[in-house]
Amino acid sequence: MNKMKKRQREDWDPLSMTQKLLSMDTSNPPGREEEEAKFLAGILQAGGFEVHLLPVAPGRPNLIAILKGKGDKLPLCFSGHLDTVPFDKSLWIRDPLAGVVEYGKVFGRGASDMKSGVAAMVVASLRLAALTDRSADIMMILSADQETGDNGTGFLVKHNGIPGRVGALILGEPTANYPMIGHKGMLWMKAVTRGVSAHASMPDKGENAIYKAARAVARLEDFTFDVTDPLMGSSTINIGTIEGGTALNMVPDRSVIGIDVRTVHGQANNVVFGRLQAFLGPDIEVRCIADAPSVRSDPDDRWIQEVYDVMAPILGERPVPRCVPYFTDASVLATALGDPPVVILGPGEAAMAHRVDEFCYVSKIEEAAEAYFEIGRRWLAK
Ligand SMILES: [Zn+2]
Repeated sequence: MNKMKKRQREDWDPLSMTQKLLSMDTSNPPGREEEEAKFLAGILQAGGFEVHLLPVAPGRPNLIAILKGKGDKLPLCFSGHLDTVPFDKSLWIRDPLAGVVEYGKVFGRGASDMKSGVAAMVVASLRLAALTDRSADIMMILSADQETGDNGTGFLVKHNGIPGRVGALILGEPTANYPMIGHKGMLWMKAVTRGVSAHASMPDKGENAIYKAARAVARLEDFTFDVTDPLMGSSTINIGTIEGGTALNMVPDRSVIGIDVRTVHGQANNVVFGRLQAFLGPDIEVRCIADAPSVRSDPDDRWIQEVYDVMAPILGERPVPRCVPYFTDASVLATALGDPPVVILGPGEAAMAHRVDEFCYVSKIEEAAEAYFEIGRRWLAK
């Protein structure tokens, strides 16, 4: 190893890497993940990784990096997303791109969701690259366009951009370093009611699509699910939007209801879709607009238990099986990567995600980097 490479590896600590990533505005929309993806690709390449930038759209690359090991054991995969939700700078007390550190917290858009997680993964991976005799590959999948519905990873899967199966998958989404073993699925639908337009002064000549929608919405409040999961509870349904009508003085001929369902483990999204269509009846057309299955690993899996071993001294207690309510790229990646055990583990605070004055505790970023390194070291040692 030459001195140049060594210095590049050691220059980055988890906090300074987080601050560097915060300085690059990757608000989605519009995204602009290119600067961050290229920066990380350069660092990882200098650290011995083979890197691939696979654009979802112009200026919006996914980054895949692979550190080659020796044996035939499957790789360990770290994954995170490069984009953040947008911000209105005028509402923030501190500059959302400056990475200001105060009171043991680093502030910025993406501090929790999830530039701290990506930074800790990259720093840990560079440290793993310095180990000799690595018995497996390390894979990193850093996605563009996650915040609007896992689009970056969806694109990778659709266009055969996934390099192959992995043995275990860690997502660095915010969990305050608690290792979570799954999350609910998501099913977004639009239900369309149709009628016949007429002049509002003669409503009997038409058929009112908004009345139909209103009756459907009222019935949907009583829609129940037949599966519960001990860690995730019950599935939920929410009507988020309703649109319809073209003018106040017309009988509306069309209305659209936006339905968000969060499904639990053991409840297939397509089954829920079918039940909902049957519940609403043949007169209402239901369309699926986004579909991400739930993810849940077996808590007795050997690797999950090993992650618990690593996290117990850091957390001061042995973790117990828990899940997060939000969905992640794991919905898309797990199947494409051969259904490995999945852990969602990141330094950010879930409650800080998408908030004004978002922050992450600096100590948690350092602990996450230690944890990722130790989980990786054990993977590579066997
Ligand atoms: Zn996120």
